[in-house]
Amino acid sequence: MKNSLTLPAAALGLVLATSLASAPAQAQAHAAATAPAESGTTANLTEEQTRHLVERLKSGLPGDYRARIAALDAAVGLPPAGLGETNAGVAGAEPSRLVPAGGRSASPELRLADGDNEVCQTTPLLEWQSAAYAEWTEYDLAEVVPWIDFFRMYDAVLFGTEADHQYYGTDGQFTTRVRQTARDLKRFWDIPSGEIQVVPMHATVALDQAKVARLMELLMLYPADQAAQFAADFVPLVNQEKFDYGMHPALSFDAFAYYGGEVPGVGVIPPKILIGDGILEAYATLGLGDVAPRAIVAHEYAHQIQYVRGLFASELTGAELARRAEMMADAYAGYFLAHVRGGALDRRQTKQVSQTFFQLGDCYLTSPGHHGTPNQRMRAADWGAQVAKDGFPRGRILPTVAFAQRFDAHLPELVSADPA
Ligand SMILES: [Zn+2]
Repeated sequence: MKNSLTLPAAALGLVLATSLASAPAQAQAHAAATAPAESGTTANLTEEQTRHLVERLKSGLPGDYRARIAALDAAVGLPPAGLGETNAGVAGAEPSRLVPAGGRSASPELRLADGDNEVCQTTPLLEWQSAAYAEWTEYDLAEVVPWIDFFRMYDAVLFGTEADHQYYGTDGQFTTRVRQTARDLKRFWDIPSGEIQVVPMHATVALDQAKVARLMELLMLYPADQAAQFAADFVPLVNQEKFDYGMHPALSFDAFAYYGGEVPGVGVIPPKILIGDGILEAYATLGLGDVAPRAIVAHEYAHQIQYVRGLFASELTGAELARRAEMMADAYAGYFLAHVRGGALDRRQTKQVSQTFFQLGDCYLTSPGHHGTPNQRMRAADWGAQVAKDGFPRGRILPTVAFAQRFDAHLPELVSADPA
């Protein structure tokens, strides 16, 4: 990706997709080097200071910036969220994000699922997320956090590479597990894996003035000096105590798969798996810091399988279509992690895999971003693990397409309600 980043203006309208949910981080050094808030008396800006800064930054944006970002998000295949507000939908894009696009401030309602007897409710992990968001103002959630998301996601999508001495978790505490899982997955499944890049998303990227400026030049067509000024002005918005100076885990609480493609002005981007620091750290608070990173990488890798093998297509539509893809990815992850030639997890760890997906289950039962209820996701991962355990001979690995066919045959049973 080097320096050849000049994006022709004509190209802009079509290319930029983004989903602004977490922040890129440039590691602790940056946070430490940046002075806390301007006032000198508090580590947080006042609401008035925040609004003033945001308005100033927005005044220089092109009038159609939301449309540009929505177009970018669509091109990258992310659900429209945050900055690029739009109801245009994501035609052709497949659900790929680990956290459903259900809204940043609302916690899922308690609802009955599809008229059956399965009661859906929020989970400790999603309650953790809601509690984190509750510490921020509505204005922060609407106008500041989406920009942090924008920078962390687009920096990773466009420029992240495995070759960059990457680390996972703000202290690198998950690096070994993520990398090892990525290596094992590439050897395990029968798809071409050489191009797939697993890269982190750090919210602290929003404090990295060179990286923010690069994105503003490329995606908003800012001249270099204006981009540099934007990046400098943006720092105090991120560098607040309430955001843990850019390292708050709720600023990077997601993971997603990007299938690659040509981005005008940048070139051809390879398929990528993008992992936010925050989602790994949130799981660690639930005691899942060992297994969840592996489960998340395996789930996102499964989306790459689905893409390569054309497995997103189905007779299902809407929420059921999305749920099928997500539960299938959970099942692929369960199979890989329980398999003797895959993750080779023991029984206790395998239960933690299904617990990982249970925690992410949502109750947006009619949303096209629906990923499955907690119980449904748990059952999908358990089912995949059981297929691995029952496999014969033990060392045999099912072809990816054969696994998907088995999954589809069992899907009705996996989504059905728990016994009363
Ligand atoms: Zn997914």
